[in-house]
Amino acid sequence: MRLSNFFMPVSKEAPADASIVSHQLMLRTGMVRQNGAGIYSWLPLGFKVLKRIEQIVRDEMNRAGAVEMLMPTLQQADLWRESGRYEAYGKEMLRIKDRHDRDMLYGPTNEELITDVFRTYVKSYKQLPVNLYHQQWKFRDEVRPRFGVMRGREFLMKDAYSFDLTEEGARQSYRKMFCAYLNAFDRMGLTAIPMRADTGPIGGDLSHEFIILADTGESAVFCDRALLDLPAPGLDLDFSGDLVPVVEARTKFYAATEEMHDDAAFGALPEERRVSARGIEVGHIFYFGTKYSEPMNAVVQGPDSQMVPVQMGSYGIGVSRLVGGIIEASHDENGIVWPDAVAPFKVGLINMRVGDAACDAACAALYAQLEKAGIDTLYDDTDDRAGAKFARMDLIGLPWQIVIGPKGLEKGVVELKRRKTGEKSELSAEDALRRIAS
Ligand code: ATP
Ligand code: MG
Repeated sequence: MRLSNFFMPVSKEAPADASIVSHQLMLRTGMVRQNGAGIYSWLPLGFKVLKRIEQIVRDEMNRAGAVEMLMPTLQQADLWRESGRYEAYGKEMLRIKDRHDRDMLYGPTNEELITDVFRTYVKSYKQLPVNLYHQQWKFRDEVRPRFGVMRGREFLMKDAYSFDLTEEGARQSYRKMFCAYLNAFDRMGLTAIPMRADTGPIGGDLSHEFIILADTGESAVFCDRALLDLPAPGLDLDFSGDLVPVVEARTKFYAATEEMHDDAAFGALPEERRVSARGIEVGHIFYFGTKYSEPMNAVVQGPDSQMVPVQMGSYGIGVSRLVGGIIEASHDENGIVWPDAVAPFKVGLINMRVGDAACDAACAALYAQLEKAGIDTLYDDTDDRAGAKFARMDLIGLPWQIVIGPKGLEKGVVELKRRKTGEKSELSAEDALRRIAS
């Protein structure tokens, strides 16, 4: 993408109404534009990151055997009356009436809708297990929308729903999601810690929140330092195998959010292992048995011909919240430092002297090669001052920068900079390309 052709409204000033760094940086880099309290337009740069995160989540859901679909944002209130949640959900639910005076709502979550899909088509245990997911906008009329996209009212969530005949089956489905989550967050460059959590209005008896540590996190969290160094299960994990040891290798360490915190158990840890910090919830998984299947009559025929309510779990990831969360976890005084896998572009190519025939030609040639190699590149072909170009490229935080100027070209070199470390090297354009591709 040529910057002259892109739409990236970068501003120099820190916005007055943003209190945390990720929100400030998202506004300054022109990633989002607030439209109303907790409601945002995703401008091209922000949209690219959102799509990258969505794709990683999709890959890891699919790898764990979940199947993608899409449910609507608008739902009929009647389904929620069946589960008993229409009244219970309270003011967070945006209630709407259509022209026929029918009660509708903008979905804050989808347990009811998916249970209705399930009960319509699945009648036998032979069709189980099944796990269906989608990535769709949700609306929750939060009391205090804040921190930009981290606590929005309209936000993008990945929500998956598992259906099993037995409790043990449901627990295995839960473990699959537990492992898939760790892999997905790891690919995004995040250390997400699974913590025992309260089940809240979703209900159920087994639940973990996935938390990334950040000073600006909304919740107080407590965990064993050992958890910070545990590697993710890995993309070669066999999801049809025994996942109990994989899950237990993590759940055996102390980790809890404030609501579930047990001071005595935490205090029993050696002092140097006690981590008491703030955290951002990026995912939340639940096993809740027959909480929805029973009232909504989602039953299947078991091997003994008896009809039994299906065992369910639900699994959410805050896709749009992650954009802010990743910035909280990865920035410096000059701006964002995108982890490679979620960066909007992999490379920022800077032409130091636009209008100089040699610079223009060298940039155009390298840009073409980068694109040909499938390396998403933002080519700064504007005639802004060099200092402004450098500052802007640091601000938007692409993993690699290549600077082409007349002095270097005389020596046959370009400058390659790694945003994360600031490390610079002079090398030929071919070598720069090779280094980035590897
Ligand atoms: P929280 O405790 O932060 O209010 P929740 O427990 O209500 O979240 P879930 O119902 O578990 O959230 O939703 C799944 C995921 O969706 C959460 O883990 C979070 O990452 C994301 N999420 C929830 N509410 C919001 C919001 N208002 N804005 C952005 N993301 C959100
Ligand atoms: Mg939650």
